[in-house]
Amino acid sequence: MHNRTIAELADAMARGECSSVELTESALAAIDSANDLNAFVTVTPESALAQARAADDARRRGEAGVLTGVPIAHKDIFCTTGVRTSCGSRMLDNFVPPYDAFVVEKLRRAGAVMVGKTNMDEFAMGSSNETSWYGPVRNPWSKDTVPGGSSGGSAAAVAAGLVPATTGTDTGGSIRQPAALTGISGLKPTYGRVSRYGMIAFASSLDQAGPMAATAEDLSIMLTAMAGFDRRDSTCADEPVTDYRAALGNHSLKGLRVGLPREYFNAEGMDAGVAMAVQQAIEALRAAGAEPREISLPNSGLAVPVYYVIAPAEASSNLSRFDGVRYGHRCAEPRDLEDLYKRSRGEGFGEEVKRRIMVGTYALSAGYYDAYYLKAQQVRRMIRDDFARAFEQVDVIAGPTAPSVAFAIGEKADDPVQMYLSDIFTIAVNLAGLPAVSIPAGQSDGLPVGMQLIGNHFDEARLLGAAHGFQQLTDWHKQRPSPEA
Ligand code: GLN
Repeated sequence: MHNRTIAELADAMARGECSSVELTESALAAIDSANDLNAFVTVTPESALAQARAADDARRRGEAGVLTGVPIAHKDIFCTTGVRTSCGSRMLDNFVPPYDAFVVEKLRRAGAVMVGKTNMDEFAMGSSNETSWYGPVRNPWSKDTVPGGSSGGSAAAVAAGLVPATTGTDTGGSIRQPAALTGISGLKPTYGRVSRYGMIAFASSLDQAGPMAATAEDLSIMLTAMAGFDRRDSTCADEPVTDYRAALGNHSLKGLRVGLPREYFNAEGMDAGVAMAVQQAIEALRAAGAEPREISLPNSGLAVPVYYVIAPAEASSNLSRFDGVRYGHRCAEPRDLEDLYKRSRGEGFGEEVKRRIMVGTYALSAGYYDAYYLKAQQVRRMIRDDFARAFEQVDVIAGPTAPSVAFAIGEKADDPVQMYLSDIFTIAVNLAGLPAVSIPAGQSDGLPVGMQLIGNHFDEARLLGAAHGFQQLTDWHKQRPSPEA
């Protein structure tokens, strides 16, 4: 089981070499022995084994699909009926949802077996998985370093081979940046491609769920199961869902026009080893017949400042629901209603979440709304227009996913601005609502480097096809951390 892909496990089960119960038992044992990574907040052995038995029965009846019986895990931001959903926060440490998120429901219907819920930055705010109430996640490549965030538990679980795939969410880079730092593949779909129903809201105009796995082929299997229209999310798009795996072969690298944004290659703070690895990856694309060309995304430098107005503004509004009244943390013996609100929120939220609520409340307050939120929305439009112009000339845009490899735990924890700059290459994609994938593309100092490929709206098939093409040429996606790291 260890380190095998969904595609390989599905074949093994189809040939009768192993059962879902065996795979699930082996995943549960691996999770147990990798406890030091802190990748999981909750493990659900009983329900997992029941689902595995049901999957084996379905296979005997001839009703198995590619995901039937495959063990997966969900980021602890997706609501799961009867299973605690903490969002990495003390605020929701006691929250047991009465319903499933759309993504959870879809993957269960596809036969996948949920083995547990993965650790994450509190309310998905962070780039290092250090803001979790449950403590930091460790990167299996080097246990003193961060796995990236906010989907750090999901990334570490795949990188360590505990499960072949996980779900994540990406508001400004939280699928792609941890995928890059742990040497796996991660896809942030087009805004609206996957329903946000039952996914705890951070910044609603940016949040999007997506898959994390070792290969682009596995991402395509997961996306096919996760995508689709859902009337319970009013921003979910009613676009047909392709069989993304079947479409992989339709998109060869030959003749693919690859845009290289000038601004991404001479960005400040860019690690030389990362830049070199990404240049080499682009040469591999060229050798396979792709046509790289320089482009410009002139407003790239504005993406981080714009995001840090819009995301906190939306977060401050979304998080107002956590008031200690209906669910979540409630302080002991409140004196009156105001005391209940103040102490419940004061105790329930961590420092980074409070910082965002304060910044966002300020940006939305009377007199400042026009100067900050409205202005940020206008610049957001300019960033989106930069991409629209680029996609008149190119099919995909390539560059580094993150400016550095995995950094040490604690290194940026006291410097929010340095932390925010981990997402300089990923944030603009969310502001523009575009799909993007991060794939392993090299190493620097023995740690993985990710390459980001950005596509046009709803062009996931081409994006995954290009990523798959690259993985046919290279074996960075097969590199795994050594167990002693
Ligand atoms: N690191 C960014 C932030 O802290 C993005 C997080 C995310 O994508 N959820 O907001």
